[in-house]
Amino acid sequence: MICQSVFFRKEVINLTNVLNQSVSVLKGVGPKTVAALQHLKIFTLEDLLMAYPFRYDDYRPKALAELIDQEKITLRGTVANPPVVTRFGRKKNRLNFRLLLDQDVILVTFFNQAYLADKIETGAEVTVFGKWDSSRQRLTGMKLLTFNRNDRLAGIYRSSKEIKQTKLQSLIKEAYLKFNAEITNLVPADLRQRYHLLDRKQMIHDMHFPLSAAAAQAAKRSAIYEEFFLFQARLQYLKRIDQKKSGLQINYHNDQVKKFISGLPFELTTAQKRSVNQICHDMHRPIHMNRLLQGDVGSGKTVVAAIAMYAAVTAGFQAALMAPTEILAAQHAEKLFQLFQPWGVSVGLLTSSITAGSRQRQELLHQVATGKINILIGTHALIQTEVKFERLGLVITDEQHRFGVNQRQALRLKGIQPDVLAMTATPIPRTLALTTYGEMDVSLINELPKGRKPVKTFWLKPTQLQQAFDFIKQQLIKQQQAYLVTPLVAESEALDLQNAEQLFTDTQKFFSPEYQVGLIHGKMKSDEKQRVMQRFKSGKLNILVATTVIEVGVDVPQASVIMILNADRFGLAQLHQLRGRVGRSNLQSFCLLIADPKNEAGIQRMQAMVATTDGFVIAQKDLELRGQGEILGNKQSGLPDFRVGDPIKDLKILEVAQMDAAELVQRPDFATNQQTSQLAAYLRFKVQPKLSFD
Ligand code: ADP
Ligand code: MG
Repeated sequence: MICQSVFFRKEVINLTNVLNQSVSVLKGVGPKTVAALQHLKIFTLEDLLMAYPFRYDDYRPKALAELIDQEKITLRGTVANPPVVTRFGRKKNRLNFRLLLDQDVILVTFFNQAYLADKIETGAEVTVFGKWDSSRQRLTGMKLLTFNRNDRLAGIYRSSKEIKQTKLQSLIKEAYLKFNAEITNLVPADLRQRYHLLDRKQMIHDMHFPLSAAAAQAAKRSAIYEEFFLFQARLQYLKRIDQKKSGLQINYHNDQVKKFISGLPFELTTAQKRSVNQICHDMHRPIHMNRLLQGDVGSGKTVVAAIAMYAAVTAGFQAALMAPTEILAAQHAEKLFQLFQPWGVSVGLLTSSITAGSRQRQELLHQVATGKINILIGTHALIQTEVKFERLGLVITDEQHRFGVNQRQALRLKGIQPDVLAMTATPIPRTLALTTYGEMDVSLINELPKGRKPVKTFWLKPTQLQQAFDFIKQQLIKQQQAYLVTPLVAESEALDLQNAEQLFTDTQKFFSPEYQVGLIHGKMKSDEKQRVMQRFKSGKLNILVATTVIEVGVDVPQASVIMILNADRFGLAQLHQLRGRVGRSNLQSFCLLIADPKNEAGIQRMQAMVATTDGFVIAQKDLELRGQGEILGNKQSGLPDFRVGDPIKDLKILEVAQMDAAELVQRPDFATNQQTSQLAAYLRFKVQPKLSFD
């Protein structure tokens, strides 16, 4: 028994190493090919074996009766006449010949492959892959197949200019033939049995060289599970390492924190209290906190963050708050300054307008470095610049989804291990949240402060703009304020600006002289933006015409109506964020969507906005209407790029694979147990060279 297990352990290490070798061990793979493969994110033999095809070409000969028009198929038959080559100009040519199939004769045409003429002899048997045109009974040849291509499905891979399809195919084949004995299972046997998954070697074989469509399908099912499983296992493994590392113990002053909370102008909601407790509990333990605070727009995340920061300060630590935009950073600074002043906590704001090298900046940095500033607020420049803290204990990121995974990592690796709290308003369905933030613990604020009324949403046609303006006027009469948001013009900031200026002029015409109108857009300097925001906040401006710069986080409770022009140009998540700018007090608020959508998805987006104010319902609808890449509005969503699995289409598999992986990796005997030691060795390799996800 002992012998066996020693043998097993030894084998584990060897096997892992073989497939972890660079692709350069393959025949004919020099530095150039290595570089080309790297662009495709293929570094090791393992990567190569896991570079699965995204589709298959069917090289199994078919009978004429089975063919469907325009289908890509393979036919095998006898050449009936010598090929005839016709040339057009210098470069173009066409090669025609007749192919005899049992009883029928069809025409085969190759374009610009005249050199094939030598290989096509009358009376010989040939196999041609191409596109079938049923009305002309013609096959447009794409490939003349050689013997070893016959009778199978051929994987088609993501290739590139530097590395062609055929080269990739042959490299993968070589890697498989040489090293398939080294392929060992990563998904433990009991899970494979439970879900009827293939043995890993079989799976990899059938992904690349399936004998039938059904075999490819079965292999894909196993591969999807494995991909999700391994991804989640990696996140959980990181978490496990993190938990073992000693983090800061923030011995906050409980009574002072309680006093601070009772000094707030409102009572915390139950969900806010629960989140505060979870965060404080984490901070107090000598482990590294890595927590996500998730709550819909307006649910009151900022005050929870403020309490956490205050707690850190009572323990003698500094805290940093990072916002995605300068407007937001400034808003936070102002709010927290007011909130903390009575408690003797000093707040600093670091923005790009305080230029590098200036006296003011140096003074601020000095105060941070000597601990005179307790709380520092800024954009992500906070983690990239020369900022040194005296005793940083807590880092908070606002609107988490704007920060990529790498920035999150950079933050965690900066200096001593501060506790990390990330906040996001983006309602991500639970399962996807696990995919994106699997390595974090989650606190959820799932209720709005008492007395909040759901925002009433109306969808109007552009022809009803006059009515919309009349409606807005009625709100202004009641001392309330309005946002007018101009449409988003894809890829043209200049046009965005033009639109905004046009709307600004129109609005002024309609509302002046009784009401004051302001304009804010992305091209303005940050202090200019802040001046405009300030005037809107203080009520000097009644209406703010804005591009989407106001999208996240802006908090002006007296604003009770938002009008969004060409609303169908926005994604649902963005519309939800925009709508979240109103309904931030007990006033009944309104959202007017002006749109004349030209397609079904646009219509459905408008309908969804009118039907619900629940961020999670909206997110789910968004998933249904768009692809995964767009859920969060842009590429920075941080959702990983899976090779075979689709986190939306394969949601069920994602769910179970994630749960299984999380459960396994957190087991105390994970690294030593026979069932899981293989996986542990794999993860150790994946995680050890650099703490990042590619
Ligand atoms: P978000 O979660 O969108 O960041 P904020 O933290 O900006 O929301 O809070 C929205 C508004 O609600 C702010 O004006 C804030 O002062 C107020 N607020 C937060 N918590 C409560 C509460 N428990 N009761 C009443 N108002 C609250
Ligand atoms: Mg906020």
